[in-house]
Amino acid sequence: MDYKRIQEITDEFIQKYPSFVKEMPDTIICCRELFGKEVKDTNYDWSRSFTVNESVDIVYNFLKSISQDLADQYYAIITSVNENNEPYVNFVDSKIKKVRTEVNADGYVTVCYNNSPQDIFDVLHEMLHKMNECTIEIEDKKGETTLRSTLTETVSIFGEMLLGDYLVKNNIITEADYAKFEAWRLSTSKNSAADFVVENELIKLRVQGVDINKENALEVINNYDINSMERKLLDNHKLDLEVLYWILETNQLHVIKQQRYIIGQVLSERMYKTSNKIERFLELHDVIGGIDAQQRFNKDIIFNTSESNEEEKIR
Ligand SMILES: [Zn+2]
Repeated sequence: MDYKRIQEITDEFIQKYPSFVKEMPDTIICCRELFGKEVKDTNYDWSRSFTVNESVDIVYNFLKSISQDLADQYYAIITSVNENNEPYVNFVDSKIKKVRTEVNADGYVTVCYNNSPQDIFDVLHEMLHKMNECTIEIEDKKGETTLRSTLTETVSIFGEMLLGDYLVKNNIITEADYAKFEAWRLSTSKNSAADFVVENELIKLRVQGVDINKENALEVINNYDINSMERKLLDNHKLDLEVLYWILETNQLHVIKQQRYIIGQVLSERMYKTSNKIERFLELHDVIGGIDAQQRFNKDIIFNTSESNEEEKIR
């Protein structure tokens, strides 16, 4: 294990993002909230399949049910082509080729589909990313911490929750299907939180001026109470292995990216519990797609969106 290189990468990160580093303890609080949520066992098959065209149409109808403008924007993007007549949104059959479902840096959307209800959620998720950025050129490069980049996953994850309601209510999928999707989403968000906690420990070591090496990493684990979230996680997550190899492989820390999912999950669940969730969603979508979204993310936003008791706990 090249601990020296990991230390270099960590030091570079601390130097480049001092404000982000200072606010990491707030995100750790969100991580704790996520670890308190249990992922349901949903080891069963989907109730039915969908063609990719059906999924695309269903998302259109869902958006139309909340705002004709959103549906129009969605339709405009999904049918748009570049100067070489190539579509901006592409669908790849996972049986033919496994590719990443994403919006890439050039603004092209790829959805790798498998004809399951998951596709409907994936289409909405990626299209919301694309729609958020629709009014301005994509300026968020990887690693930036603007309002838009920080909250873009929140819009998409919150959108998935509203879509889930719509699909179940209209008997397009079953409650069990939605539970299966929800469990998948929560478990991926918890994985993001686990990575965040581990990388946070590396950063803490360096902020304290301690070398990153095997002995010190083990000491970090042992210093935590046996019942603490950190201890369980660091034990399970093998601080000295998986995450560290990933950092070396990609030559970077992943905390900024992971924070988007962590905040996305926590904020979405809070907004979902409010009485005016559709308005909240439209408002958020507007803010993230608007010109002010290039401002630096202000963490206070996390503490100003709750009407539930969670807020009290966090403060
Ligand atoms: Zn996303």
